[in-house]
Amino acid sequence: MSIKSQSKGVKIENVCLHFGDTEVLKGVNLNIEPGEFFAFLGPSGSGKSTLLRAIAGFGPAPSGRILIGDQDITHLPPWQRNVGMVFQSYALWPHMTVRKNVAFGLEERKVPPQEIDRRVSEALDLVGLLPLAGRRPSELSGGQQQRIALARTVVVEPRVLLLDEPLSNLDANLRVQMRRDILKLQRKLGLTTIFVTHDQEEANTTSDRMAVLSDGVIQQVGRPLELYDRPDNRFVADFLGSAN
Ligand code: ADP
Ligand code: MG
Repeated sequence: MSIKSQSKGVKIENVCLHFGDTEVLKGVNLNIEPGEFFAFLGPSGSGKSTLLRAIAGFGPAPSGRILIGDQDITHLPPWQRNVGMVFQSYALWPHMTVRKNVAFGLEERKVPPQEIDRRVSEALDLVGLLPLAGRRPSELSGGQQQRIALARTVVVEPRVLLLDEPLSNLDANLRVQMRRDILKLQRKLGLTTIFVTHDQEEANTTSDRMAVLSDGVIQQVGRPLELYDRPDNRFVADFLGSAN
């Protein structure tokens, strides 16, 4: 396989962040293992995206420390972090073909053309869209566009893959299919992945472990079943219980 996994773990040490007077992250500590599929689960406004963006380097720098492997990245600009992020809206370049969209990041990095071809083909194959390489984004469905966004992100061999509610714009059937495919791709590449969702089922069915957030505080961390069986507090019990 030509796309290599450079998976590293992520350590979050006492991370606090505020917007004006509002404290949005209140002393977050987490240790995510290399190759792990990790979910941030919590209601809207609990700080999931803010925490993910702090790892990616978007928005104000938090206090505390964020490490990838043993590198402190808390104050590095996003482009020096070598993490890949897929957003809810997956802006592809409308005037470029699918292949060009996926190749773009490699061309920017001055990767040799032959290697670009090889890696782009492999990334498109991983998401099952190699046959559509010559199309433009407008000729693809929402799910297919999302797969292209995913291919474009993994092709540059990030150390960590960050997914912020990547399925929320898709219809229910497609969501189930996509989350299986994301998991398959993650396992194949062994890529450390953090998946943000407000949907318990999505977190349960994908993640090795998850952190439940509320109001900028991690309420509990563990395997999905552990959290269901032994919630640490009322919030976790109620939040997870509300799915049933
Ligand atoms: P989640 O992703 O869990 O829904 P967010 O991380 O987006 O939550 O938001 C957490 C809190 O931070 C919310 O109360 C939100 O209104 C606030 N917030 C997020 N981004 C900003 C910002 N750029 N400026 C001010 N407040 C923000
Ligand atoms: Mg969010």
